[in-house]
Amino acid sequence: MEISLALSLSKTGLNRDSAFNFSCSRCLACCRFKKIQLNPYEIARMADNRGISTSEFIARYTTTGGTVLRSNQDGSCVFLNIEGCSVHSDRPLVCRLYPLGRQVDSLGVEIFSQIEFEETCKGVLHENGTIEQYLAEQGAAPFMRAADLYLDLLWRLLDLLNEQELEPSQSETILETVEAVAADNAGEYDLSWIDMDWAVAEYCRLSGISVPKGIDEKMGIHIKAVREWAA
Ligand code: SF4
Ligand code: SF4
Repeated sequence: MEISLALSLSKTGLNRDSAFNFSCSRCLACCRFKKIQLNPYEIARMADNRGISTSEFIARYTTTGGTVLRSNQDGSCVFLNIEGCSVHSDRPLVCRLYPLGRQVDSLGVEIFSQIEFEETCKGVLHENGTIEQYLAEQGAAPFMRAADLYLDLLWRLLDLLNEQELEPSQSETILETVEAVAADNAGEYDLSWIDMDWAVAEYCRLSGISVPKGIDEKMGIHIKAVREWAA
């Protein structure tokens, strides 16, 4: 997931020990005119925050098949209100990390980049800390873990599709869908499999097991279900 406006990187190749700290003035300018991409865990956290299912959340608060957070007509995030972020405790990873970006490659190697500030940002950078400390302050750990698990799922689906000899039409459809998600171009495809509550309920029904209550447990079943369904 990334902030997809034309933000340039002012520093890259950073790691968790790199010097970094950031004071945010809470001016809320960064919650406007952004394309916030979401994974199923982030959707589940915000759906839980709103007290609704992931299916309802996807329908009400996302676009492009459930992969992007909806914006209001004035460009503000759908969760921005006069007091700030109305889902703050469950906000997506990209919102927690800003002005840092995080990338993980197919071998699991993690690097961080510092995004060049937008002119409107009133935040101040410091070096009296480390990226590791900043991540802890932002409560980023469960979100990074989930991002890594879903990225790994995406890599595995792509591998699987490359290895398998599916019927051409079936293979093309699945491959196009997975590639579209990877390329942030998923809007025209059926992405019901990214809906955690729907997929977990379906998997548990077919397996004759109870649907767990916790998001972490649901995420484990969700990833298992998608893997099995794709195999
Ligand atoms: S989810 Fe919250 S922090 Fe993220 S862009 Fe929306 S209002 Fe801002
Ligand atoms: S624009 Fe900068 S200072 Fe304003 S809320 Fe966003 S990060 Fe904080």
